[in-house]
Amino acid sequence: MGRRQYAVIGLGRFGTSVAHRLYTADQEVLGIDINEERVENAELSITHAVIADTTEEETLKSIGIRNFDCVIVAIGNDMQSSILTTLLLKELGVKKVIAKALNKNHGQVLTKVGADWVIYPERDMGERVANQLLSPNMLNY
Ligand code: ATP
Repeated sequence: MGRRQYAVIGLGRFGTSVAHRLYTADQEVLGIDINEERVENAELSITHAVIADTTEEETLKSIGIRNFDCVIVAIGNDMQSSILTTLLLKELGVKKVIAKALNKNHGQVLTKVGADWVIYPERDMGERVANQLLSPNMLNY
């Protein structure tokens, strides 16, 4: 796969994990968080990291967010920020927006405002673990 430009908004455990994995796969990754400490912690494990509030349209424009191939919205607990960020990204013309949802209602709203792919980390991981347990080579576990 060629080198693509990704932005990861929200550098909590989920966002940092996505960002770092992309970085180790030789992709260009910009991490964005409103929290200075989170940005400083992420700086060593991704290409670039900036402090910004992504609910501000002008801030997103000045980052040049529409030039990224894919943006991952990894804000969860602050649903309002997650939804507004996703809406702005789509309005600004970002082609692929992936957003993390806390629950079904949150996910439905993210889809309504244009998210191209909604992820439910706990639910998806739970399914993966169960599938692993059910796979034939795990029968003796
Ligand atoms: P995780 O479960 O991935 O560890 P978390 O529990 O740390 O996440 P969340 O509320 O899901 O916290 O937020 C993830 C990150 O998003 C936090 O580091 C938070 O500072 C950041 N964040 C929240 N609102 C904004 C915003 N408006 N702009 C940029 N970053 C934001």
